[in-house]
Amino acid sequence: MIVVCPSCFCKYSVQADSIGQEKLVRCAMCGATWRQSTLDGSTEKKQHAQDLIKWTFFWFMVFVTIFSLFFAKNAVMKIWPSISSFYEMAGLQNEYGGKAFVIQNLSNFFVIKNDALYMGLKGELLNVSNEVQSIPSIIISLKDDENVKKDSHYKKIWNHNPTYKKLLPNQKVVFETELQSVPYNNLICDIKLDVL
Ligand SMILES: [Zn+2]
Repeated sequence: MIVVCPSCFCKYSVQADSIGQEKLVRCAMCGATWRQSTLDGSTEKKQHAQDLIKWTFFWFMVFVTIFSLFFAKNAVMKIWPSISSFYEMAGLQNEYGGKAFVIQNLSNFFVIKNDALYMGLKGELLNVSNEVQSIPSIIISLKDDENVKKDSHYKKIWNHNPTYKKLLPNQKVVFETELQSVPYNNLICDIKLDVL
């Protein structure tokens, strides 16, 4: 290998074996001393390039992980539901516990049509997530006050009129449906969302 004096730039041809990995050498011309390494520039460059690739990959993975945890959290929670407690701790969970929708302003009323009694049910379906959501069907069934499910005869499914099928974050849609010949007393509506 060629060793160059850093002081006077005098060149020497030296057996790499005689240096080993590194050795203190002295220039015969100017007397300067320095630690000469047998790692030549190209090896160092290769090493440097490999390190750069490793670190780039490492930071890329860190970025991907953080990105998916924070920005795709609904998808992450679907795959890994117990992570929602992590989001709660981090203050990233919404107040609805990660639900996509809530039903609000629910009201009922009675109407008589063709001598039959109907109970109308009206409410708003609100997208509380921070993603666009497909509007689900709403399955309404009735329970009595002891939480026993009444005959499935009273079950009714509300499907949104599909002029638009998606709700943006914080967007809501009013739903209204009628249940025929329901008993008057002690009714509790059990409302489920059927997200397809
Ligand atoms: Zn020298």
